[in-house]
Amino acid sequence: MRKTTIASPVWGRVPVHTCHTLVIGSGAAGLNAAVQLRRLGIDDLVIVTEGLDQGTSINTGSDKQTYYKLGLCGANGDSPRELADTFFDGGSMHGDLALAEAANSARAFLSLVDLSVPFPRDRFGQFVGYKTDHDPRQRATSVGPYTSREMCRALIAEVRRLGIAVHEGRTVVSLLSQPAPAARAAGALALDAGGRAVVYLAANTVIAVGGPGGLYRTSVYPTCHTGGIGLALEAGALAQSLPESQYGLASIGFRWNVSGTYMQVIPRFVSTAADGVSDPREFLLPWFDTPSQAFDRVFLKGYQWPFDTRKMAGGSSLVDILVYIENVARGRRVFLDFRANPEGFDFARLGAEASDYLRKSGATDGAPLDRLRTMNPGAIQLYLDHGIDLGREMLEVAVCSQHNNGGLAANEWWESLNLPHLFPVGEVNGSHGVYRPGGSALNSGQVGSLRAAEYIAARCRENDLDRRAARKTAAAALDTAAAWLELGAQSRRDWRAERAELQARMSAAGAHIRSALTVRNAVTEARAQWQRLARQGCRFAGEAEKADAMRTRSLAFAHFVYLDAIAFAIAGGLGSRGSALVQSAGGQIIHPKLPGEWTFQPENPLFREQVLETLPRSDGTIDHRWVPRRPIPETDLWFETAWAAYRAGRIYDRNGNAPKEPQPNS
Ligand SMILES: Cc1cc2nc3c(=O)[nH]c(=O)nc-3n(C[C@H](O)[C@H](O)[C@H](O)COP(=O)(O)OP(=O)(O)OC[C@H]3O[C@@H](n4cnc5c(N)ncnc54)[C@H](O)[C@@H]3O)c2cc1C
Repeated sequence: MRKTTIASPVWGRVPVHTCHTLVIGSGAAGLNAAVQLRRLGIDDLVIVTEGLDQGTSINTGSDKQTYYKLGLCGANGDSPRELADTFFDGGSMHGDLALAEAANSARAFLSLVDLSVPFPRDRFGQFVGYKTDHDPRQRATSVGPYTSREMCRALIAEVRRLGIAVHEGRTVVSLLSQPAPAARAAGALALDAGGRAVVYLAANTVIAVGGPGGLYRTSVYPTCHTGGIGLALEAGALAQSLPESQYGLASIGFRWNVSGTYMQVIPRFVSTAADGVSDPREFLLPWFDTPSQAFDRVFLKGYQWPFDTRKMAGGSSLVDILVYIENVARGRRVFLDFRANPEGFDFARLGAEASDYLRKSGATDGAPLDRLRTMNPGAIQLYLDHGIDLGREMLEVAVCSQHNNGGLAANEWWESLNLPHLFPVGEVNGSHGVYRPGGSALNSGQVGSLRAAEYIAARCRENDLDRRAARKTAAAALDTAAAWLELGAQSRRDWRAERAELQARMSAAGAHIRSALTVRNAVTEARAQWQRLARQGCRFAGEAEKADAMRTRSLAFAHFVYLDAIAFAIAGGLGSRGSALVQSAGGQIIHPKLPGEWTFQPENPLFREQVLETLPRSDGTIDHRWVPRRPIPETDLWFETAWAAYRAGRIYDRNGNAPKEPQPNS
């Protein structure tokens, strides 16, 4: 890595690090990208990150955090094609991405095993598995509640062992991209903890900034994680499937999915007045013919965790709607109480699925907390570790945003479709479609980072960045950032107020309950907020908050783009699908007792064969279009010819193009 400087009238002498490949973000995906790049001989590389302890991967988990992969045990056959079919069947996912995620699944997984991530195996080395949501087989595995944390720890150890440079305490505030006709990514502008600018010029930029956690108020993303997709959207990177996200029931004091055993032990669902104490009511029972019907739905939520529009009428996702109504429509607070059985609870009257499971688990007696202690004592300890004693208090919950299936659009080597040399990997890459098997996010992050590294090593090994042009781009970005921050001094609103506004809007209009009118209005407000921020900036206290202010601007643009994509999809007749319900007067009834607005527009299944692309521009115009999804490729698997193609490096060609000629540095 070369270090020079740029002189700026506002920023002073700004350090400029020039390298072959810049990795932004140190979650499971970014770390793996760096490790794989180094293994493939790319030595001139740096990870720039808010911190090795930041992001979703190292700060989150769930009851049994799942890693979904190719089946590697037992007598039930599995193959890349069968796994690709499962991914593809989720709808609105490109077939080449499904095949790549499937074909590289074992390789990426075993790389983690080799780094000592303790994925369970039997005495013969079979990686035992279980079934997860949207999973026809036992492909899922886990190392416990903190699978992604263990992955990060193993990858961090490897990053250290390999001596890869890590610049922590840096927030990237804009991506550097060179304009058409030679448009390409060229690095990034970051601010350090003291608000000082640092420039990174790179021939390749791997963007691994995670999901859009900072977009929502009601969220189970770790509080420290805001995400950075807005950076790429501001740079004009093509996105896809932005409306497809996953929402589900989670505790909000300490953010954690209340899936698995938390539901299977059938706690009481209690709502209270806004003070969290007065007027407690068990609110589920009136909606069901018998108490046991309610309890069976709660039990099912254990492994039907995400809110799913196919499971509303008579299914377990009705529970999410009832929680939402208490929370949002009635302004009450919702809690799970594990200390006593729900009113009318009678083990003998539970449905067969719940009672068999609990009986086999030896958890038939006592209160929900006793059953939890029998089935999963760690689940109680987890909350104790975060200051919540389930034996003494109720657990506040809400239906939270958890994962974005959409994100930036990239090809089968994880390179942006319209910004060459930008490689979105991990959750910021929108490879998934409507439904994805639980645990496939981690698979996708590992596969995508591996693929990007392989492609960079094979096809972008020459450092062909025009450094002079890149320095000019960096100088312009420094000026723009300085001018915008300057505006903030005069602004009436600070970044916290601006961020709270956009987060509230996203949770109200762009989360799991949507309607054409609400989203249309939200788009108008979102555009106005973004324009106001662009014109007036926002206040921030001192140098250390400069990054927060700039991040808020980026989030504002991202929320505008997301809402616009959602509005476009609804206006085009997409209907309700995945984890998003579209309310519509006169639509299908979810439950006869629910008020009039709780009818919904059914899904138009034709859209499953298409993918929604979104092209944002810096002037605020946004184009959306549905493109037919690419089918799962039928490849030449005849060994001799496939080997020849591999030897000749044709596997990296796109659309039959010849390899790129390396260009000289200027
Ligand atoms: C509660 C919960 C449970 C989940 N359970 C599962 C599960 O069971 N199975 C599964 O497959 N998936 C699960 N997921 C999803 C999965 O954990 C994430 O998709 C995955 O960890 C994301 O990894 P990543 O590397 O893409 O991003 P992250 O781990 O979020 O890392 C992003 C990195 O980018 C850095 N960064 C961001 N912005 C900037 C910036 N501007 N400048 C510098 N650095 C920046 C962050 O600091 C961080 O280092 C769950 C998610 C949640 C929230």
